[in-house]
Amino acid sequence: MDHSLETLAGGLGGCCEILMYHQLARPPRFSGNRGLCVAPWLFRRQMLELRDAGFRSGSLRALTDDDANAKVVLTFDDGFANAFEAALPVLSECGFSAIQFIVAERRINQWDADLGYPIRNLMDDCQIRDWIASGHEIGSHSLTHPHLTRLDIASARREIFESKARLEDRFQRQVANFCYPYGDLNPAVRDLVVEAGYQTACSTESGSNSQGCDLYRIRRRFVSHRRPILAAWLSPGALLTLGQLCESYPTKAGLAE
Ligand SMILES: [Zn+2]
Repeated sequence: MDHSLETLAGGLGGCCEILMYHQLARPPRFSGNRGLCVAPWLFRRQMLELRDAGFRSGSLRALTDDDANAKVVLTFDDGFANAFEAALPVLSECGFSAIQFIVAERRINQWDADLGYPIRNLMDDCQIRDWIASGHEIGSHSLTHPHLTRLDIASARREIFESKARLEDRFQRQVANFCYPYGDLNPAVRDLVVEAGYQTACSTESGSNSQGCDLYRIRRRFVSHRRPILAAWLSPGALLTLGQLCESYPTKAGLAE
């Protein structure tokens, strides 16, 4: 068995992998957004596996540094309170940091409710301050979570610029990273994100990011309850790259609970 970090880093192709989470909650049985929920116990198992395999967490700036160590960037979209509550102790346990993309003008997931999905609380200001004080980051996920390409340019500009300004004002820290709601972008929207002064922007496109990738169209690996990281179960001690770990494995019904 080869547990060396060099092998892991080699498996990552010299770049880091970015994981995309949404809610940390038991997936609702009859809901179209079931795939956006990862049960807290599964999240903890995934984090422990990554830690034990030698991964370190990094910020989105890790995409541009030369550090050859195997890294993951942990991202959470929407700023759900359940993700805050479940992630904070696990991240502390593993020595990992993460970023929550906050919808600056929303306190519940109204955009999901409009589609008939369960309403959940988003992090309140106190929780966001606790998140930051614990060494984690926040980014902007717009003001109201619209499809930005469906807005007129002035409205899209407001969503992108004002969310940054409001979050920076409320939490007294620079907000350098943006995340497109629904991964919805086009060249005009991307240009606005650049103009607003963000340093990166995450899409929902799946995949890895190579050196020289577009920092305003960052790809991520979607982690759902159907895509558990299974290294320790498949073969104890087996060394798999994160790319392999995140591929879809045959789902066991019990995994979703
Ligand atoms: Zn979102």
